[in-house]
Amino acid sequence: MSDSNSVENDASNFIRDMIAADIKSGKTKKVITRFPPEPNGYLHIGHAKSICLNFGVAREFDGFCNLRVDDTNPEKESVEYVNSIRRDVEWLGFTWHSNPFASDYFDQLYEYALTLIKQGDAYVDSQSADEIRVKRGTLKQPGVDSPYRNRSVEENMKIFTDMKAGEYTDGKHVLRAKIDMQSGNINMRDPIIYRIRHVTHHNTGDQWCIYPLYDFTHGLSDAIEGVTHSLCTLEFEDHRPLYDWILDKLINDIPSRPEQTEFARLQLEYSLTSKRKLNQLVVDKHVNGWDDPRMLTITGMRRRGFTPESIVTFCSMIGVTKKDSQIEMGVLENALRDDLNRRAERRMAVVNPLKVIIENYPQDQTEMVTGVNHPQNPDYGTREIPFSREIYIERDDFMEDAPKKFFRLSVGREVRLRFAYYITCKEVIKNEAGEIESLVCSYDPESRGGSSPDGRKVRGTIHWVSARHAVNARVNLYDRLFTSPNPGAAADFHQALNPDSNIVMDNAKFEPAIELTDNPIAYQFERLGYFISDYDSTNDKPVFNRTMTLRDSWAKIEQSG
Ligand code: ATP
Ligand code: MG
Repeated sequence: MSDSNSVENDASNFIRDMIAADIKSGKTKKVITRFPPEPNGYLHIGHAKSICLNFGVAREFDGFCNLRVDDTNPEKESVEYVNSIRRDVEWLGFTWHSNPFASDYFDQLYEYALTLIKQGDAYVDSQSADEIRVKRGTLKQPGVDSPYRNRSVEENMKIFTDMKAGEYTDGKHVLRAKIDMQSGNINMRDPIIYRIRHVTHHNTGDQWCIYPLYDFTHGLSDAIEGVTHSLCTLEFEDHRPLYDWILDKLINDIPSRPEQTEFARLQLEYSLTSKRKLNQLVVDKHVNGWDDPRMLTITGMRRRGFTPESIVTFCSMIGVTKKDSQIEMGVLENALRDDLNRRAERRMAVVNPLKVIIENYPQDQTEMVTGVNHPQNPDYGTREIPFSREIYIERDDFMEDAPKKFFRLSVGREVRLRFAYYITCKEVIKNEAGEIESLVCSYDPESRGGSSPDGRKVRGTIHWVSARHAVNARVNLYDRLFTSPNPGAAADFHQALNPDSNIVMDNAKFEPAIELTDNPIAYQFERLGYFISDYDSTNDKPVFNRTMTLRDSWAKIEQSG
């Protein structure tokens, strides 16, 4: 985790420009932002965009950002989610100024509601939920005033305080802002600001049986915290008049007057960025929990082997605009590849092993060959790799009836074993079912290190692991969870699930220098991709996740498809 994560190099970020201008003009003295997740699920890559924006501008302009837990729906929220949110924000490399709950402000919010009632700006409605909905009208049709709209202040005060005291059952009454049932903006048609819910809240327990609604809570929480720039996604644009109305009605009571600005949500190809839909995947068991490495939740990405730096870089690359667009998955994947290419040491692992017996190599001999840990960075050093008479190679690296351009193994053809020798395939050994069991090869002792004194050309280089020294492992070959670029738009996103998104290779062979550490480190397995150890690893059987292939194998499919 570094404090150097920065959004300073954004392609375009109109919010940063706006804040810079506000500081320059003296309108803003100290920037205060907040990231306000609801604890009803785990954070995903979309939230990362908002986190990088809110924490990023605060850091850049020497202000601060609060992590506010927006908890006004007790039925759907939990401490598990609260804890996961904190962990994910920290892991991304950001530090909050404070970590309040919106529910910490319930007393204050209640006072604000009383003020609205006293001013004649709020009333208790006793219609049923259905009646309220029907009378709200539609986009084309104005709403109809509630028969309770002109209740006296005294009556409103009495019922509302009784609501708080627990005198009524759920749904019996609601408190509504008195704005305009004819407004062209449905959000302004006397929105509900308090409702009765006899449920236990994860933070306030049974202290409250009335809960404020999101729109009422949000702006006032911003005001209480002194937030200068309240940044949210475009779907809240239509809520801004309400945000402003509430703050303006209470302008003499609130400690500060924040302003809301909207930006486009992140939409990423081949993925879902909605907690509700991600939750559905978990509940329906299409994935193994929120931290399934195929999920683009922060916790899933961590397990998959994403680095926080690659996610922050991605967020700065895509910029911040007011226009909705879908970002190509390749942008995220390449940000990750670039980062891992820099930091991952190289190792050899065989995921689908085929045994090779080198007939002219001495039975009991083991020799060590030197492997380079990083081709571009000598600081990573070298390692010694055991070589012996029996080795494993990848099944894909052998072909019986190989075309001319197949530069790997086939009977009579020669390849280079990475860091070791040239071998030539002599014979294929098959079992009774006709399946290939092993290969018999010979090696050229003169070719140690990977070149031969006679200068003969060998085009192919393949990776290998000494059979006697191999560590047995399981490898999860993860791929994109969806085959369709826009699974969220499908009537049923389940149909877009990729049946091959996790291919488990249970018989993988690792060279001994692949370490299991408490803090998993990324490796590049030569020719296969980037891998990281999974929590399911045991000392007897390491389990590694493929984080990403070396090249974008989907780009080809899209071009030909
Ligand atoms: P979801 O639909 O996944 O539940 P949400 O907006 O309801 O998302 P919140 O917990 O309310 O989730 O979001 C916290 C903050 O993160 C909000 O300010 C929200 O605008 C922002 N956010 C959520 N999803 C995205 C996204 N895809 N791109 C950018 N910001 C997002
Ligand atoms: Mg929300």
